[in-house]
Amino acid sequence: MTERGSIPASAGLCARCLHARAVVTRRGSTFVLCEASLTDGRLERYPRLPVVRCHGFEPGPSKVSGPRQGGT
Ligand code: SF4
Repeated sequence: MTERGSIPASAGLCARCLHARAVVTRRGSTFVLCEASLTDGRLERYPRLPVVRCHGFEPGPSKVSGPRQGGT
């Protein structure tokens, strides 16, 4: 895993979660690293996607990849 990226909307809750960080491999695959898993042993470090229910979810800034929103 080499760099940060954006999280596809298909990741489910993680795409909108404060604790999610996208990690992109050299081959271009994107994984979600759940930073809350560092302090909560019930969470997986790399959750299986899409995540549809999660007790650790906290709304945060969108990290979703795709077209820009807003503007005129
Ligand atoms: S706390 Fe849950 S929703 Fe948030 S990043 Fe971790 S697994 Fe995803």
